[in-house]
Amino acid sequence: MALLAMDSPAPLSEFDLIRRYFDRAPNRALLGVGDDCALIRPNAGLELAVTTDMLVEGRHFTAEAAPRSLGHKALAVNLSDLAAMGAAPRWALLALGLPRADAQWLEAFAGGFFALAERFGVELIGGDTTRADRITISIVALGEVPAGVAMYRSAAKAGDDIWVSGELGGAALALRRPEIKDVAKRLHEPEPRVELGERLRGLARAAIDISDGLAGDLGHVLERSQMGASVDYESIPRPAALRATADVELERDCVLSGGDDYELAFTAAPKRRAAIEALSAELGLALTRIGTIEPGEPKVVVRDRRGEPMPYRASYDHFRGRP
Ligand code: ADP
Ligand code: MG
Repeated sequence: MALLAMDSPAPLSEFDLIRRYFDRAPNRALLGVGDDCALIRPNAGLELAVTTDMLVEGRHFTAEAAPRSLGHKALAVNLSDLAAMGAAPRWALLALGLPRADAQWLEAFAGGFFALAERFGVELIGGDTTRADRITISIVALGEVPAGVAMYRSAAKAGDDIWVSGELGGAALALRRPEIKDVAKRLHEPEPRVELGERLRGLARAAIDISDGLAGDLGHVLERSQMGASVDYESIPRPAALRATADVELERDCVLSGGDDYELAFTAAPKRRAAIEALSAELGLALTRIGTIEPGEPKVVVRDRRGEPMPYRASYDHFRGRP
């Protein structure tokens, strides 16, 4: 397909582009790409979870970024939000701003997008395509969750354990040390914890996905729940490559304040420990207890080996930059 497009003298039109790369017949949706709106019929008794996330060239990635990874990541960050609510992903809309209709780029981008979409049964049901000075990728994702079991940020209770999935800090390390190949995939092709999110329904209380760093994102849970938290720094799981740098400041910064890992942080009552450990074994995914929700100021206190509070950098803010 890419070859055909490059050989053809006429440039790809907006509608050729949509038809060729993004128009796939839906199963679950009543109507997908091609009309003024898509039509969906959510299952009775389920709530619709709706989220959107945008990736902008020069801000989230460079013009040279591999388009296949971009297609994956743009969808993955949205599925990660659905997972953090406990929702099963169902549908997506894709708004693309592109400097040019580059067939090779589109082919690879669509390949990465649909490979992930198919793994989780997500249907692309619409979008928008426009010329823009920079590549801009904006996705809306919709999921379903049974009524009353979505995991709100506001649901953490005093005495809850704080858990995280996987390892933290790998994506931030890849950003700072691109030569460390072990962690590159965590940055460029994060794995949304979709199955975990669904299985945590009824087990976890509050949940959030870690897009901007553990301390900052856990802080959002605390704000919403009006609770404090104590986190044991040494218990936070991290990639071996991070310890191997032998740079303790870099390690601390990546683990506590590094973004882009897309792991889940969640709270649960201590009586759920055995069930969560069993779930971890079943999914083959590390779930680690890193701290406790406590009454008090909505602030994350991170403690070192001796129990002393450690300093950490607040997470990135698009308009304030580095604090
Ligand atoms: P309208 O002008 O009515 O908004 P468009 O001409 O922009 O419709 O798009 C035509 C159809 O193609 C619509 O169904 C729209 O949802 C879909 N579409 C446009 N761009 C994309 C895209 N990048 N991915 C998926 N579907 C798209
Ligand atoms: Mg349109």
